[in-house]
Amino acid sequence: MIDEEAYRKYLESFHASNKTNYWLESQKELKKIQEKYTDRRPRLLLHVCCGPCAAWPLEFLQEHFDVTIMYNNSNIWPQSEYSKRLDTLKQLLELSGMNSIPIITTPYDNDAYNEKLAPYAEDPEGWTRCFLCYRLRMDEAYAYAEANGFDYFTTVMTISRQKNSRKLNEIGLELQEKYPAVRWFPCDFKKKGGQVRRDELVSQYCLYCQDYCGCIYSYYARHPEQKR
Ligand code: SF4
Repeated sequence: MIDEEAYRKYLESFHASNKTNYWLESQKELKKIQEKYTDRRPRLLLHVCCGPCAAWPLEFLQEHFDVTIMYNNSNIWPQSEYSKRLDTLKQLLELSGMNSIPIITTPYDNDAYNEKLAPYAEDPEGWTRCFLCYRLRMDEAYAYAEANGFDYFTTVMTISRQKNSRKLNEIGLELQEKYPAVRWFPCDFKKKGGQVRRDELVSQYCLYCQDYCGCIYSYYARHPEQKR
């Protein structure tokens, strides 16, 4: 059962608070990077959820960073879809000439992941279940970034209109406190024409675009007729 009152209060407080423009924050951070990294490019670990969402962020970020991709998305159900999205990401890198960018993957374990999401199964997309889902994948990737000497970490997920960019940036800043050796690169990739450029690149490279976010709950929300 959805707690309608709690959801209404969340929406009210969300719309009344924090109006930080994270695209502008990313531009400020780039200025700091230009001053600090005069003898080498900083290393950035980029969490990627799928090829279409990665297309524009990769084009933008590789101008400033040595990028490595982390594809850790056990939220995606079923496994065939997880593999299809990974294949689409590889297709993007191949066709765009970015195939020297390494991809790190972690073992796929949707059962264990779903156990964590299950308490929030009924919540609407874009609320508690998604906030946990963002955090689980970002925390795992951030820990990898710290253990492997990266300078920066960020995620492509802010490109999506369905994702909460403010929450993603807040989680990123919290994880920066937890893993202080790695700076969070603030971002809102949908801003400044990012969504339009994404669509152009998807069309140019004929990338497969899924019609649901990833988890089994989002699949059946999109395809209720298939629910048994
Ligand atoms: S809808 Fe997307 S972000 Fe939300 S829990 Fe499911 S997979 Fe995660």
